[in-house]
Amino acid sequence: MIQRPRGTRDFPPEEMEKRRFLESRFRREAELYGFREIATPIFENTELFTLKSGPNILDEIYSFEDKGGRQIALRPELTAPTMRFFVNDLTNYPRPLKVFYFGQCFRYERPQSGRYREFFQFGAELIGAPNPESDAEVIGLAAQMVSGSGLGAYNIRLGHIGVLRDKLREAGVPTESMPPILQKLDKKLYDEARPLMSKAGMSLASMEDVIGTTGIVGPPSVLDDYPGEASDYLKEVLSILADYGTVNVQVDLGVVRGLDYYTGIVFEMDAPCLGAEKQICGGGSYSLTELFGGEKVFSTGFAIGFDRTLLALEREGLTPPPRKLDAYVVPTSDAMRRQAYVVVAQLRKAGISADVDLMRRSVGKNLKYADSIGAKKVVIVGEKEAAQASVTLRDLGSGKQELVPLDGIVAALK
Ligand code: ATP
Ligand code: MG
Repeated sequence: MIQRPRGTRDFPPEEMEKRRFLESRFRREAELYGFREIATPIFENTELFTLKSGPNILDEIYSFEDKGGRQIALRPELTAPTMRFFVNDLTNYPRPLKVFYFGQCFRYERPQSGRYREFFQFGAELIGAPNPESDAEVIGLAAQMVSGSGLGAYNIRLGHIGVLRDKLREAGVPTESMPPILQKLDKKLYDEARPLMSKAGMSLASMEDVIGTTGIVGPPSVLDDYPGEASDYLKEVLSILADYGTVNVQVDLGVVRGLDYYTGIVFEMDAPCLGAEKQICGGGSYSLTELFGGEKVFSTGFAIGFDRTLLALEREGLTPPPRKLDAYVVPTSDAMRRQAYVVVAQLRKAGISADVDLMRRSVGKNLKYADSIGAKKVVIVGEKEAAQASVTLRDLGSGKQELVPLDGIVAALK
């Protein structure tokens, strides 16, 4: 037997039905917010991701040399490809440009529950607007997608990268020393952040102040202790979110997306029922275009972890039951087969999901099979019925049978 690669999954029909269910809910919300779908390749030039995230990303991604000697990587996320696409081909679109995507990503991670080497992200980017209202629009969509999926328990943690950056700057940390410090603070690895901060010239007091700030969580009023531009901006985003009726939002100054290109608000969403791997969404405002050879354009976006959201829905018992076939058509003899094909074709044409015996089984075995695949009704096409231009309709749930004229089957099934 050939095993599938570590960290990947196969999806049986029941699972795909759940996945398509969630996908269509997400898609619907994104479209209601005026976002339009794009797609980019599964693999890109490796440079795209090292430009965005630095050379260390190579440890975390699938990259290889192709037969032409090019350095290629399977995409670990979709923001960089989207912004590459924008710089190359989409700059003439009216702005703001609102796009969404759904697709698989690949990361060389240690697989565990909710963490895979192949996983799916559903994300959106609002390109070309640098305002509190455009940020609120994007956060509002992320929140609506998650709540519209049906998930009951989730929260949104919203911060502003400027609060910590200002503190680091005031403490004398040069801009280029900030990313590694912010990355450690993001992961709450304070013991690893301290030596970096001290090397960057910070006093003990300012180090503890910065670390304390990452622990600030609560209602908008917690920002009163952190006056400044970043805080004012965040308050405005929060008040617009209140206008939109977005719930479950709190300020969390510990949301730090370590990388340089985040410029303003940063946010994450959690589904507490997931335990350790509870983060279901990450996003923020950023500027990447200039890295990819374009002019500076401000954007705000997010990526929802599709697989984790689905896991959370399952934990809450909110995924749909397996789909059932409306009707299974059973001929009572070889002579009745042709008539059965006519009937099944008629049902399918009318939008009724229908299947017909393809195994030449006896009536009894066919009824068992119909039951095992969860068909709702069985249409028995027999000689006696044919003499009256009718079929027998049997409800598999109640066991009730009725004689239905051939031209009334569709109506009876609908
Ligand atoms: P984490 O800190 O959990 O590794 P991240 O910060 O790397 O997450 P992002 O790059 O922001 O995550 O990706 C957005 C979302 O994609 C995450 O919030 C998570 O739900 C999901 N995600 C990330 N990596 C994986 C993975 N390996 N398997 C499944 N889902 C993932
Ligand atoms: Mg990660």
